[in-house]
Amino acid sequence: EPGLYIVATPIGNLGDITQRAADALARCDVIACEDTRVTGRLLHHMGLHKRMIRYDDHADDVSRDRLLGLMATQAVALVSDAGTPLVSDPGYRLVRAAHQQGIALTALPGPSAAIMALTLSGLPTDRFLFAGFMPVKDKARSDIMTELAGLRATLIFYETAPRLVSSLLALAGAWPARDVAVARELTKKFEECRVGTAQALAEHYTAHPPRGEIVLLVGPPAAPSTADLDIDAMLREQLLDKKAS
Ligand code: SAM
Repeated sequence: EPGLYIVATPIGNLGDITQRAADALARCDVIACEDTRVTGRLLHHMGLHKRMIRYDDHADDVSRDRLLGLMATQAVALVSDAGTPLVSDPGYRLVRAAHQQGIALTALPGPSAAIMALTLSGLPTDRFLFAGFMPVKDKARSDIMTELAGLRATLIFYETAPRLVSSLLALAGAWPARDVAVARELTKKFEECRVGTAQALAEHYTAHPPRGEIVLLVGPPAAPSTADLDIDAMLREQLLDKKAS
């Protein structure tokens, strides 16, 4: 069937390709991908030969329109280098345009490092915010921490190995008491998930410099316990409210 197929691919372990993803890649006419070498390796592993077209969100409107034009008559699969397309990866503009142009589209769900890390971390899962890549610059990093400080949710960031320790030290300064988790090399041979304070994790990763791919998670701020509440002040406020009304 012609249209757009958003296909999730493994984040490290090729065994994680789903049956539906494998079928979609086998059946599609064209694969739009970030990097033809990376996707070429996956296809080779699957014994597939397909036409590949490089696509990212920086692509100009002309090449996006060409790809959208193909979807009228051909099945176009969108994949990224790893995991779920559009999650810190290209595709959002393409999908939005497909909606606007009435193109048939569906997604074939599968692995995503953010969700795997969340489920593995032991941090609360009832509310979470995926914040994309942790900013590189100190100022941008402290700005986002200020912005998210009061949010009662587990925060999920993508991070790189060389920057992990400096991000942990920044977290230790801002939120010394919160639980933090580092999920590394998920689904791969050296997979690990460590939980602790940011300070303890900074010390660990200073002593053992990390390699590979990393998701950094921060638990929500502790709910204020009833012992911390100032009951007298609350009663006074209620009385004042009554007087005012
Ligand atoms: N679309 C992908 C997904 O659904 O997970 C994410 C793409 S983003 C460009 C790449 C980042 O995801 C890495 O820098 C790392 O933070 C995280 N990541 C991807 N694979 C991972 C893995 N196997 N273990 C830990 N983190 C991973």
